[in-house]
Amino acid sequence: MEIEPAEEVKEPPRIHRLDESVVNRIAAGEVIQRPVSAVKELVENSLDASSTSISVLVKDGGLKLIQVSDDGHGIRYEDLPILCERHTTSKLSKYEDLQSIKSMGFRGEALASMTYVGHVTVTTITRGQLHGYRVSYRDGVMENEPKACAAVKGTQIVIENLFYNMIARRKTLQNSADDYTKIVDLLSRFAIHHIDVSFSCRKHGAARADVHSVATPSRLNAIRSVYGLLVAQNLIKIEASDNDPSSSVFEMDGFISNSNYVAKKTTMVLFINDRLVECTALKRALEVVYVATLPKASKPFIYMSITLPPEHVDVNVHPTKREVSLLNQEVIVEKMQSVVESVLRNSNESRTFQEQTVEATPSVPSVTNNDLHLSPSPSGSKSQRVPVNKIVRTDSSDPAGRMHAYLYKNPQKYLGRDSSLTTVRSSVRQRRNLKETADLTSIQELINDIDSKCHSDLLDIVRQSTYVGMADDVFALLQHNTHLYLANVVNLRAGVKKASVETHSKIHLLGIFCRFYHN
Ligand code: ADP
Ligand code: MG
Repeated sequence: MEIEPAEEVKEPPRIHRLDESVVNRIAAGEVIQRPVSAVKELVENSLDASSTSISVLVKDGGLKLIQVSDDGHGIRYEDLPILCERHTTSKLSKYEDLQSIKSMGFRGEALASMTYVGHVTVTTITRGQLHGYRVSYRDGVMENEPKACAAVKGTQIVIENLFYNMIARRKTLQNSADDYTKIVDLLSRFAIHHIDVSFSCRKHGAARADVHSVATPSRLNAIRSVYGLLVAQNLIKIEASDNDPSSSVFEMDGFISNSNYVAKKTTMVLFINDRLVECTALKRALEVVYVATLPKASKPFIYMSITLPPEHVDVNVHPTKREVSLLNQEVIVEKMQSVVESVLRNSNESRTFQEQTVEATPSVPSVTNNDLHLSPSPSGSKSQRVPVNKIVRTDSSDPAGRMHAYLYKNPQKYLGRDSSLTTVRSSVRQRRNLKETADLTSIQELINDIDSKCHSDLLDIVRQSTYVGMADDVFALLQHNTHLYLANVVNLRAGVKKASVETHSKIHLLGIFCRFYHN
């Protein structure tokens, strides 16, 4: 046995403590990922300072300048030296406070992070003071003593040259699409939730603001002024609450788009306990409800504000607080699904698929309007309802859903023992004046033509298919085994010879349809 030559033993690398400035810069890059994250932190600070007016000014997508001005309570002179140190905050004292925290900030990291990746200048004045103070920060510390200056109520924070010391990040951001649209989107979201605050967002040098909202008591007004009339006029109000500690405790209110709303992308504005957050699971779940309930509708617009007991929400799961973790998240997501589904069905009966034939079958539970407002379920009892996305809509063994039920006036007559084409034709003839039928060679020709073009497999498909519903004004959805077919019912009704059945984007001409409307 050959012995391998011993490998040269390498010394393990030395472990050393990172320089604090390196640690801080790495951490800062995580908190402030791009200009829009800085704007979010600054606006949240302004909201935490009880501001009623917040304006944002942006230059070069936020890389050159971000300026956020508010009319909040301001910052005390004596706090200015530690304002931009890491982990300095006025919002949290002990860990347990996190359980009941109402403010958006609590980590004391945002301003500090900004000073590690940009140049920060703060101008602030507190109530009752004759003048304010201005001071600039770099790497967490003041660059100079605060200077007295004239100031209007509140605080103004300016960040210049964001990511000046992170070359790679700056380059990627310069090459990628301008962050300004993201900033406008962010401000729009804040504006429709905090309707008692006026927001504005403007590009440097532009005369007009791209977001301009004034405080209003009406959420719909706020949505109209920010997202426009086309969105606002196609919204339905939603509301729900549950107070069953064994499953979920929440209050929810919001607006969702109806079937007339047109958009290519879903807009989901979600606030949980007044925090602007993202919840992909909830977004996907609601998109599924839209697809299942309003197949023709575009991607939805959803504004939803959910309030939960603070102890049910873990706000400390993401450095930018973009996500939160909820107790019983799955239960809550399912409940939101059923609320949205009920509201959609209720508000737009005419546009929903006519599922009454299917829902009448015992195998398919129906969603009633009573589900609209979720009431606490009796303790211990679990809802048996099946969400719309899980409902099996069709059952080919059920005559009510069958194509033949729609195509024949008296299905038994043809479907019974013998449904062959000859039987069908002879029944048709019997009901006619035999002499006349026999005399007309054109009819005979037509019948022969149909016979010669009849496709036995397609005949089988039609016979065994189940009517699902109308896909639009022209096409009906039919299900056969595991395939869905689109059938042109206008052609059918007109009694024309050919109807098209489209499957996997191939179109087959289907001569047999006219047979059913032959007379
Ligand atoms: P956090 O918000 O997590 O406390 P920040 O770094 O964002 O941490 O802010 C640090 C502190 O600075 C805040 O706790 C708050 O007291 C103060 N502050 C920041 N921005 C403002 C503002 N616009 N108005 C008043 N105080 C502010
Ligand atoms: Mg903050």
